[in-house]
Amino acid sequence: MEKTLAAEKPLQVVEAETASSAHDKPLCGPVEPVADRPNRAEAEEAVRTLIKWAGDDPDREGLLDTPGRVVRSYEEFYDGYEADPKAILARTFEETDGYDEIVLLRSIRFESHCEHHMAPIIGRVHVAYLPRRRVVGISKLARLVEIYAKRLQIQEKFTAQVANTIEDVLEPRGVAVVVEAAHHCMTTRGIHKPGAVMVTSRMLGAFRDDASTRREFLAMIGNPATDGTAFS
Ligand SMILES: [Zn+2]
Repeated sequence: MEKTLAAEKPLQVVEAETASSAHDKPLCGPVEPVADRPNRAEAEEAVRTLIKWAGDDPDREGLLDTPGRVVRSYEEFYDGYEADPKAILARTFEETDGYDEIVLLRSIRFESHCEHHMAPIIGRVHVAYLPRRRVVGISKLARLVEIYAKRLQIQEKFTAQVANTIEDVLEPRGVAVVVEAAHHCMTTRGIHKPGAVMVTSRMLGAFRDDASTRREFLAMIGNPATDGTAFS
């Protein structure tokens, strides 16, 4: 099928972001599908092309069903575009008996893909916030991580998106997000440095302004990157 290539259309955020916040807000979504999104058959044909590019024959028996499997895998890997991260956090609880200490969900395992090589990024995230009146169901923090992970990412943007969304929706007294991850584009190819772990963080509110709050958070997450189980 002949496809007309429309002028490249960047991914668009559906809801308009207000420019009122001081920090730069990366796209958070849900993200509108691209205008010229291919159908399944076209996506499978693209995989056949890549198999040929690798030097193999997509018509040999062992590879016949591979394009279909790859496309189904992509549905899983990139499941986060249509979800609305803010809606995940919308249901909050206000009966907290005045609890105003750090809420931390530590070591949330995630799998993402780098937007430069589409290679896996595997790691974990530590998410904390200091509630102001409202708290959110703890599994919602993990779900938030999942939504942003299941998009093409760079770790810096991923870290900022998780933190900014919590700040925007819960309006807590502070947010802290630390991400530790191995990037397969530098462990299995390129510079080949297995074991290298990239660490990024975003501290907002009290975690940024108050050294003792930040220290408490860092003590709570310990030093997980060194315990050997980080990315297994
Ligand atoms: Zn990469």
